[in-house]
Amino acid sequence: MQMQENQIILRTPAKVNLSLDITGRRADGYHTLRSVFQAINCYDTLTITKTDADTPLSLKCNVEDVPCDARNLVYKAAVKLLGENPCGIAMSLEKEIPSQAGMGGGSSDCAAALLGIRALLGLDVSDEKLLEIAASLGADVPFFLCGGTAVAEGIGEILTPLSDVPARILVVAKGEQGVSTPEGYRKLDTLPELPPPDTDNVLAHLRDTQAQRLFTACGNAFDTVTNLKEIRKIRLVMSSHGIKPVLSGSGAAVFGGCETQTQAEHLAKILSGMPYVRICETIPHGVQYLNGDTWMDL
Ligand code: ATP
Repeated sequence: MQMQENQIILRTPAKVNLSLDITGRRADGYHTLRSVFQAINCYDTLTITKTDADTPLSLKCNVEDVPCDARNLVYKAAVKLLGENPCGIAMSLEKEIPSQAGMGGGSSDCAAALLGIRALLGLDVSDEKLLEIAASLGADVPFFLCGGTAVAEGIGEILTPLSDVPARILVVAKGEQGVSTPEGYRKLDTLPELPPPDTDNVLAHLRDTQAQRLFTACGNAFDTVTNLKEIRKIRLVMSSHGIKPVLSGSGAAVFGGCETQTQAEHLAKILSGMPYVRICETIPHGVQYLNGDTWMDL
């Protein structure tokens, strides 16, 4: 791998859940799930720079609400690799992935920090160990070490990467409001029965030549219980254009799969009053760093 000796710049993708089935509840209160994770080309950018060996870690971010201390998942990643008082690197995070969206922004930044610090400092940490650290930092972090398409089971910790699928076009939209994941689970617990699962149907159509068959199969258990005003509005716009709206994670981002770029542009234009609207594409596995002017797989 080539990179500038003193710096590595990584781009950290967001994800959507093409399906998210809640399959049960364990005795310890955790819910079990089955979900198809799919990385998309909406990215944060993480720059890691070497500093003097005894200079304490610094972290800055372009978004005010994101904590730049030990609460940040990239800081936590550095602590896991470098010890309680991490030194010798400065990190700068440029956020494009919205928070409280169910798009995995913090988890993706965290996975990129683990991979980036290891590469920049040449740390002798095996892939297995990195995976173990990732799992200890959050249920979604292991997915982002590899990206692409994967099935998550258990409480999210059992991950099966799938081979890359054809690129699909999505419109992703989010309002101002975030959602509370615990509240979503509480509401699901009050339902007489769990919403019907979608994962098998999504898996059956992942490589379908007709994108619409895949998008019709997509669904999310939280769709049943998440009903914020802005989400209702996004759903209405998508549905009235023949596009199935699906929540990502526990929300509050909603995505709709489109057949063509023209259809996506039309939909994005109609949704343009929303604080966050992007036309995205699904992407293959791999985490990328900047090499000159080119993004390369790490
Ligand atoms: P998920 O998709 O996993 O449900 P999310 O949509 O809630 O995540 P995140 O961007 O992961 O969104 O951030 C959730 C919270 O985590 C933020 O409100 C923030 O306080 C904290 N956080 C910690 N590290 C980060 C990070 N690197 N980027 C953004 N938020 C972070």
